Amino acid sequence: MTSDLGGAVLAGSSKRAKNDSRISRRRFVGRAGIAAGALGGVASARGQNSQVPANREMRTDVVVVGAGMGGLTTAVRAQREGADVVLLEKSSERGGTMSHSEGAVWTYESFEDLRNDAPHGDPELQRTVFDTLLQVYEFYDSIGAPLGAADEGERRTRRIAPVAFTNFMVGQLESAGGTLLMETPMLRLLTNRQHEIIGVLAEGPDGPIRIQAKAVVLATGGFAGNAQLVTQNITRQFGSLYQRNVAFDGLMPPLTGDGFLAASQIGAAPSLGGFDAFYGHVLPARPAKFSHPLSDYSIYHGAWTVAVNLYGRRFADESQGRVAGRQIARVGDHFISQEIARQPEATAAYIWDGPINEEHALAENNLGSLDKFDAFRQAGAPVATANTLEELARQMEGWGRGVPAGQVLGTLSEYNQAARNATAGKLPVPKASSRNALPIQQPPFYAILGTTGITATHGGLRVNSRGQVLSTTGRPLPGLFASGIDVGNFCNYAYLGALCLGAVFGYLSGANAARQPEPRGGWE
Ligand SMILES: Cc1cc2nc3c(=O)[nH]c(=O)nc-3n(C[C@H](O)[C@H](O)[C@H](O)COP(=O)(O)OP(=O)(O)OC[C@H]3O[C@@H](n4cnc5c(N)ncnc54)[C@H](O)[C@@H]3O)c2cc1C
Repeated sequence: MTSDLGGAVLAGSSKRAKNDSRISRRRFVGRAGIAAGALGGVASARGQNSQVPANREMRTDVVVVGAGMGGLTTAVRAQREGADVVLLEKSSERGGTMSHSEGAVWTYESFEDLRNDAPHGDPELQRTVFDTLLQVYEFYDSIGAPLGAADEGERRTRRIAPVAFTNFMVGQLESAGGTLLMETPMLRLLTNRQHEIIGVLAEGPDGPIRIQAKAVVLATGGFAGNAQLVTQNITRQFGSLYQRNVAFDGLMPPLTGDGFLAASQIGAAPSLGGFDAFYGHVLPARPAKFSHPLSDYSIYHGAWTVAVNLYGRRFADESQGRVAGRQIARVGDHFISQEIARQPEATAAYIWDGPINEEHALAENNLGSLDKFDAFRQAGAPVATANTLEELARQMEGWGRGVPAGQVLGTLSEYNQAARNATAGKLPVPKASSRNALPIQQPPFYAILGTTGITATHGGLRVNSRGQVLSTTGRPLPGLFASGIDVGNFCNYAYLGALCLGAVFGYLSGANAARQPEPRGGWE
């Protein structure tokens, strides 16, 4: 199984599952559905936050920050547990990255496999997601949320139609008296003298709002759009990276690490790892123009290609990436995507041949044999196709992006020789998975130029299995919880699912935040 349902090739995935995912995507979402729904999500434009009282002070039980998967699940769960809830959304669009996703809520079916593939992630968080996801599905079913049925043998994978799911969850919240404030970012957390959370300061379209609450749940989607944090932790090529998330359309970037930064200011601890890692895929290189759905333009078969940077050189194992000291058990496109982010202009060319095109490029995307070469060409990205490698390399040089034909041919010659001799694992830049180390030898040959798009960061807040944010001393910060991508170090370079993190920690943090007692130290 591939694509955002798991850029890795999951053992036991079936053609049927791929076909089903195609059917369900068409049935539930469709291009028009995404576009209309996403626009329909712009529900509360300026001035419509009429729930804000004239004195701009509010009191509630739980403030949830961010109306994506993590925040919506948190808000509805907290409300079902009896809490009065205010949900804040920074942008003019509700649903966050989730509303632009493929909607496969999933994680692994075996905890052993999960640990094996992400041994550097936090085992407590991984165990929590694995153990709790089925309960979350029961919860969604119990409230009538629109969720597809699980396929046989894949109990931990259920599909949502993102826009319908968003609308349903907002409807649940509002019909039970909850408040959603759009275009109202949290600016900072409020604490009392005893360092307990007592609410947030937010900024609405008409000015600041002080919202007092017994608990705050941060679900701001990570820091993919924060230039400083990405540059410090992931790559100096931030300026070239695409935002493969809710921020894509050039709106004010919403995913700027607001939850992480606000919590850090009051002594929250960063997760113990994952800061140099993220989940993403390669998108058509500039000057390409493309739009949602981003999956139609995302490469998922990179592990089968030869990837060369703008100097025409291989730089990382296309099958497993390359980060010193990391053991990677699995193969997946998302590894090489992370390494491309660290190359000049966060850009690289993927090169493949006829058989790889048939067996992988057309099949590997989980969306029903979309022709990605064609998608790149139509988007206006640099592409090349030829019946000889010499001609292919000549066309690549003709892109005018600096890729030297001679170097490309030298790289391919060295790689092909090793692939034919089954020694690709011993190349100076090894390709460890012999299954993926196929020689590029049968025309037609293909090359595309792509730039990495960052979907979700892996580092974040240190959080325990109750969703509580921990302080630098390891103790829970009273009244502070997290959900979704703000929960740090679940994946750490691997991809174990992303929506599952919002589902599970929304479910847990929502319930625990609802039970938070009044601050013992009062409201000042
Ligand atoms: C094309 C594509 C396909 C995908 N497919 C899948 C898939 O099939 N399966 C899967 O598991 N994952 C998938 N993903 C990834 C997944 O959608 C996201 O990682 C997930 O939705 C993140 O959820 P979240 O709630 O943590 O953040 P988000 O959904 O991004 O929500 C965060 C929200 O917080 C808001 N916010 C930020 N700062 C503030 C602030 N200061 N105050 C108030 N609000 C704030 C943001 O505006 C945003 O609405 C896909 C992503 C893309 C782009």
